[in-house]
Amino acid sequence: MKKLKILFVTPEAAPLAKTGGLADVSYSLPLSLIEKGHDVRIILPKYGAIDERKFKIHEVLRLKNLVAKIGDKEARYNIRTSFVVGNKYKVQAYLVENHEYFSNRKGLYSDPITGKDYEDNNERFILFARSVIEAVKLLGWQPDIIHLNDWQSSLVPLYLKLEKEESLKNSKTLLTIHNLAYQGEFPLEEFYKLGLPESYKFEDGVVIYDKINFLKTGILYADAINTVSPTYAKEIIEDKERSAGLKKVLLKRKDCLYGILNGIDEETWNPEKDEIILRNYNYKSYELKLENKKNLAVKFGFDFNPDEPYIYKISRIIDAKGFDLISEIFDELMKLDIKLFLLGVGEKKYHKFFIEKQNKYKNKFGCYIGYNEDLSHYLHAGGDIFLMPSRYEPCGLNQMYALKYGAVPIVRKTGGLNDTIIDIEEDPENGYGFSFKEYKPETLLKSIIKAVDLYKNNKALWLKIIKRGMKKDFSWNNSAKLYIDLYKNIISK
Ligand code: ADP
Repeated sequence: MKKLKILFVTPEAAPLAKTGGLADVSYSLPLSLIEKGHDVRIILPKYGAIDERKFKIHEVLRLKNLVAKIGDKEARYNIRTSFVVGNKYKVQAYLVENHEYFSNRKGLYSDPITGKDYEDNNERFILFARSVIEAVKLLGWQPDIIHLNDWQSSLVPLYLKLEKEESLKNSKTLLTIHNLAYQGEFPLEEFYKLGLPESYKFEDGVVIYDKINFLKTGILYADAINTVSPTYAKEIIEDKERSAGLKKVLLKRKDCLYGILNGIDEETWNPEKDEIILRNYNYKSYELKLENKKNLAVKFGFDFNPDEPYIYKISRIIDAKGFDLISEIFDELMKLDIKLFLLGVGEKKYHKFFIEKQNKYKNKFGCYIGYNEDLSHYLHAGGDIFLMPSRYEPCGLNQMYALKYGAVPIVRKTGGLNDTIIDIEEDPENGYGFSFKEYKPETLLKSIIKAVDLYKNNKALWLKIIKRGMKKDFSWNNSAKLYIDLYKNIISK
């Protein structure tokens, strides 16, 4: 087997910097590729939130004092190095350091205080793309594949194409779209910042709908593109709403558009080994989960009754994750014999809504507005039913975490949720979740009522489906193989 050299370019990677699922993928996919014998390094911006001491960030002599032109500005930067350490392997990480754009800011893409996107995100990620090309030139380590992720790294294929050095042409590019809704759009007047020939200032270049669009640029110029589940790959070219205005561009690249399901890191998300939760368990010692459930009740100051199912949700609080549906049926939900938990942060209108509800339903609804990794583990370990009624979902990770911890997911049949959850009524022999089609509050409520009924009145079947879910293999093993096949396919073209 030929060992592939892969440079994984990402705007976030756990545990260094994380806002969502992409950080988890950027941690576990490279590790899994290394486990399969490949040479993988990652590169990301060195944000202010990255702890310099904790991650032992070093200088690299040949990657110091670099300069990138961004319009008429000259941005000085260094590329430093650290490691992302997994259980068995570690990945070398390059960190792009510039004080103005990255190191002096706490947020990754937006200001944590105002919640608003940084206005100079175009400059920030032009610098990032430029630094990736520079790193490839200076490292003396030429990647076979430059694996890009989301709009923040989407300028790389075009910049690479415009490079004169012949050797750079041996690096092929793959762009993974984790969410098509985020495209990186900027005013046309700022075209000059990109440092591109004027001929790119058109629809067949970097522009669409009179704006500069980073993601669109990546889709157009990458050697291949993929999304994070087969169903989402189909939806974005078939469904007008899902294609988010990029249908034409995507259709142009249809022959090299793929869908590969994300895996999960089964070392971190494993109730048998989890060091955060109160009591470890597996599908054979499932009854021990009850102690975690009791612990959850204690943490939220609720009285404990094992017969009440614990329904929970961990998510960014935005409409797309189904919060419009949940808020509509909230009072109905509170009539059921359940407890409900919410962990998340996002839109202010929902924060207000849920805090009010928490005050109203004191022994029934507990919410934590904020980001809390430990609590997410407690919830999976103590919860019985996991809610993920997303309007759309490129892949989704939490439904897989929930299954591993012996909770039953209720999801909407879309994107990666469709590819990971088998509905118990549709397929009683193999099902382990509830999956509904219509994006309506009453359909969600119906599914919840069904799940609660099953929990309360058919313990034997409940146990059976939980064990099925816990035994499912969602590791990266399979998907990493698919990525390797795709890399080889791109290289051979
Ligand atoms: P998305 O990437 O769209 O936000 P995913 O389900 O793919 O959704 O991944 C979300 C990741 O972020 C998961 O690892 C989830 O546990 C985590 N997460 C989201 N919100 C929070 C929060 N408030 N506290 C802790 N973890 C969170």
